[in-house]
Amino acid sequence: MRCRKIGENFQDIQEKLDFEHLRMTKEYLMAKLDEKIRNCHKCRLHKTRVNAVPGEGPVDAKIMICGQAPGRTEDVLGRPFTGVSGTFLNKLLRLIKISRESLFITSSLKCFPPNNRPPKSDELKICRHYLEEQIKIINPKIIIALGNSAIQTLLNKKSLISLIHGEPREKNGIIIFPTFHPAAAMRFPKIRILIKEDFKKFKDILKKFNLI
Ligand code: URA
Repeated sequence: MRCRKIGENFQDIQEKLDFEHLRMTKEYLMAKLDEKIRNCHKCRLHKTRVNAVPGEGPVDAKIMICGQAPGRTEDVLGRPFTGVSGTFLNKLLRLIKISRESLFITSSLKCFPPNNRPPKSDELKICRHYLEEQIKIINPKIIIALGNSAIQTLLNKKSLISLIHGEPREKNGIIIFPTFHPAAAMRFPKIRILIKEDFKKFKDILKKFNLI
């Protein structure tokens, strides 16, 4: 009886150590990747950016959020969704009672496109492998794709967000949940209603798959 207990405890400790080892490995790989992104010169955007914005959040997050590209505030601060779109995103997360700190947040492009213009196809193509590497390290269960650029990057094909929003799909074992970009929701009241409905649907999916 006593031996079995010691055996069980040993297994518990081993599992905790394995878990901690995996987390530290992920931290190390993500720090290396962050450095690569912050020093990236692969496309024209490095000439006009102030800071590249790799993203932030726990390296073992179950949920990721992927936007379009850093805005002016993000460019200055080097942190994702810290401007007005970020304020709106925070509101949506509060609405469904998900803490921002539990998510890994990033964007399809890691650098600010000058004058806030939309990303160009070649920029999305060049930058895509950074997002793919982040996904490989984190291995999330679900990714919210905010807007057309995120969907194009994550599903590797052009789809109109207005046609596919709120309909989850699976790619390489990860659920991709498409919805509008918060910037669009701030401009158009109709989209504001739809994005709130989508976030509620998203919460239902999290519950269904025991992710919260
Ligand atoms: N929009 C994005 O897609 N990403 C950010 O970090 C900020 C605004």
